Amino acid sequence: MNTFPLFFKLTNQPVLIVGGGEVAQRKADLLSRAGTHITILAPDISEEIKQLLSDDKHSLIAEQYDKKYLTGKRIVIAGTDDEALNHQVHADCQALNIPVNVVDTPPLCDFIFPAIVDRNPIVIGISSNGKAPVLARLTRARLETLIPQGYGKLAKLAGDMRDEVKSKIPTLTGRRQFWEKAFEGKVSELMFAGREADAEQALKQDLAATYSRLLNQKTDNGSDTDLDNQTNIGEVYIVGAGPGDPELLTFKALRLMQQADIVYHDALVSDAVLDLCRRDADKVFVGKKRSNHAVAQQGINQLMIDAAKSGKRVVRLKGGDPFVFGRGGEEIQALRAAGIPYQVVPGITAAGAASCYTGIPLTHRDHAQSVRFVTGFLKSGEPNTGFAALTNPEETVVFYMGLHSIERLTKGLMDAGRDPNTPIAIISQASLPTQQVMTGTLQDIVAKHEANPLPTPALLIVGAVAQLHDELAWFGENIVDTDQQAHALNMI
Ligand code: SAH
Repeated sequence: MNTFPLFFKLTNQPVLIVGGGEVAQRKADLLSRAGTHITILAPDISEEIKQLLSDDKHSLIAEQYDKKYLTGKRIVIAGTDDEALNHQVHADCQALNIPVNVVDTPPLCDFIFPAIVDRNPIVIGISSNGKAPVLARLTRARLETLIPQGYGKLAKLAGDMRDEVKSKIPTLTGRRQFWEKAFEGKVSELMFAGREADAEQALKQDLAATYSRLLNQKTDNGSDTDLDNQTNIGEVYIVGAGPGDPELLTFKALRLMQQADIVYHDALVSDAVLDLCRRDADKVFVGKKRSNHAVAQQGINQLMIDAAKSGKRVVRLKGGDPFVFGRGGEEIQALRAAGIPYQVVPGITAAGAASCYTGIPLTHRDHAQSVRFVTGFLKSGEPNTGFAALTNPEETVVFYMGLHSIERLTKGLMDAGRDPNTPIAIISQASLPTQQVMTGTLQDIVAKHEANPLPTPALLIVGAVAQLHDELAWFGENIVDTDQQAHALNMI
């Protein structure tokens, strides 16, 4: 280790920054977050530094550098564009034994500014020891995605309860187990879901249960499993897995997937996404075909309820968004009826992904003022006949589950009065490396598709915006329309 990571208490401590430009300002901003008293030493200062100085904790010495200003400072930062001056500041600080940092000059730094992940009171500093600051920043970005925002609040709650826990659980091992359960279980989950009061309540309940179990063990050497079971009910997370590309998962989805004891997933969840679930989690495929939903759906509900009742953290991973043609609503109705706690995490719905990954904006000021998501397939299995509502030429219509019925859908639209020349796109396996797009018009798409059928899942986008694909396509796709192929080749 070339440097040793320490966390320095700088609150209300005097810090000197030599320099008044952008470099100095970046450090000043950072240090002011730690509550330091900053003195800026510079004859000229930028507007941003002026703003910072409006906080009267900080002060300005609008003069040339002189080593007399170093006296009494806890740390010093030199960030001027005068190299000789920076060296001078460094030498003077060394003589006075004051830690100094000359910005972006590792040999002249007694300490370095790490990349910071701030979940106060949890703070993580990452350093590459000046070798690869960009890599340190990227590491930071990865950690930012992994560590929920609620960590700080969780740590604060733990801090507030620490003494009480210590007084009620005498052994170190007992306390460790207690905190592990709190930080990996229900308490943390409630906190991350923004339910602070419930988290505190759950922690207190856990403590009371543990305490009375310990007392019982002392008196009759028996165990109180009932108390344990009370706090042991699991939870179901209905998680939108997005359209397939794992990078389109949300941070929250990823975090819950990595906590799961069991994952129930359907056919639309890609292997790449499934691979991101906790390795030890049971992964159970509960995919369905297009028919026979009702029975299967009840079966899935029951599986989730039973698993949660046995204390498991259940992730129900659904393609796209759980509340867009995803039956997420039906699932939480069943969970609610069974008294199982749940959370729902939105995902990127297929229409959003298909739209972005094909360069077909769903709305566009010149072409479409509104958009409708319509199922091409109804719960009852009956055809969708509400075409009269879908004839507005300025509205984009997206059909989910519509490829099998494309003939009926396009005919229905035209019969209801939508222009036969209205552009339409079929997007197959949107966002995946196998994505394909076929464009045409309401009157010619069926023949085109018959000649060259595309695999499911696929989405239909109807409306003037569909023609923009020619111009705006960017994702490395296998463009089926020959005109477009020529177009794509020209672009290369
Ligand atoms: N809840 C999902 C939709 C489930 S309905 C969501 O929000 O995306 C299933 C339909 O979604 C499929 O028939 C297809 O029309 C569409 N779909 C899902 N994933 C898709 C993908 N990657 N590419 C194209 N269409 C997709």
